[in-house]
Amino acid sequence: MPEGELKNISLSLLSQEVEERGKVVQVERGILALNQRWAEENRARFRAAGVRVINVLSSPGAGKTTLLARTLKELPLRAGVVVGDLATQNDAERLREAGVPVVQIETGGICHLEAAMVAKALDLLDLEALDLLFIENVGNLVCPAAYDLGEEARAVVFSITEGEDKPLKYPTMFKTAQVVLLNKVDLAEAVGFDRQAALENVRRVNPKAQVLEVSARTGQGMDAWYAFLQGR
Ligand code: MG
Ligand code: ZN
Repeated sequence: MPEGELKNISLSLLSQEVEERGKVVQVERGILALNQRWAEENRARFRAAGVRVINVLSSPGAGKTTLLARTLKELPLRAGVVVGDLATQNDAERLREAGVPVVQIETGGICHLEAAMVAKALDLLDLEALDLLFIENVGNLVCPAAYDLGEEARAVVFSITEGEDKPLKYPTMFKTAQVVLLNKVDLAEAVGFDRQAALENVRRVNPKAQVLEVSARTGQGMDAWYAFLQGR
């Protein structure tokens, strides 16, 4: 194929891509504006019921469910959970063992929770009977950052097995967190974890976030997390 022709093809593909991206951006803006309205409605419901709400975020497998299962057992507050997953009810079933109300949202492939989904879940809960509501988001450090659910605070769980540079790779998520839980610290030695580097990376992205070093599995450091939950 002559050189000029090849060039033309790539240019036309590029312009088409730009045009389509423009459309995607517009649709996204519309979705986020709508989400914000639902989020404010949720926030008003939480306030009226006197329930504090924590949006819990992480990559898949960082330990959100284990963290919440222990928290629900040990924290002397009336708590409930809304848990989002792409598919299955496994996490909800694990959390229900703590004897608290749990609503599972199966997103059917959507990789984040939206405020409207949470609003539907709230219809199935007696908010007045709760002091605290955890929203366990879908395991994903990218788009959940853009969706306000009406929460009071965001907790990002960052497992030490994920590598010290996670905050630098997903700055948007880490920037919006009030608390960062460095989880699985009991495995630090086994995986050669560089604690100093990880703490520095969190601070570089979000100097205001409270950083808690915990092991949800062994219970190490969990008291500081409970203090955070009770102190807000
Ligand atoms: Mg989970
Ligand atoms: Zn998503």
